[in-house]
Amino acid sequence: MTEDWRARAGTICMQCGGRCCRDAHPPLSSSCCSRLVAEGIPEDSFEWRGYRAVRARDDGTCIFHTANRCSIHTMKPETCRAGPFTFDVKGDVIEIFLKHDTICPVVRLLKDVPEAYGHQLALAKKSIAHLVAHLPDDELAAICSIDEPETDKVAEIPREYHDHRH
Ligand code: SF4
Ligand code: SF4
Repeated sequence: MTEDWRARAGTICMQCGGRCCRDAHPPLSSSCCSRLVAEGIPEDSFEWRGYRAVRARDDGTCIFHTANRCSIHTMKPETCRAGPFTFDVKGDVIEIFLKHDTICPVVRLLKDVPEAYGHQLALAKKSIAHLVAHLPDDELAAICSIDEPETDKVAEIPREYHDHRH
């Protein structure tokens, strides 16, 4: 079976133009930040918003959104890998949410193709658990205080989540 959903997802995202890269301010774990700096990304690409985040342009677009794509795709932060899933932390539990298709068109594809949904949810769980495990509590609290309307809770994982399949 071919994985044509990947190509379809790519097309949908190109047509969307990266709505998820506007006003995103993705948080950076220390390991993600170190990896970016080691690859030559200048430190002034990051800013402090109560947590360390990728800087945005004046119009709110992430500075790494260039020519309608992510210029650091292979190294992008955990929440960017996890999208269109997002998260909140309640005690020892990480709650996973899925954005509505009205704000992220690729959600329709995920809901139509179980393989795509399962693949992306597994990646989201792994990426979000890594981020949560590598952030100081005050930064995590600042991130979780950001309201994310137009999402539905779809899963819960323990804070100490490990995906043994990877
Ligand atoms: S993930 Fe969603 S919001 Fe982001 S570019 Fe793709 S369709 Fe648009
Ligand atoms: S790092 Fe890449 S995927 Fe994440 S918000 Fe910026 S441009 Fe978008």
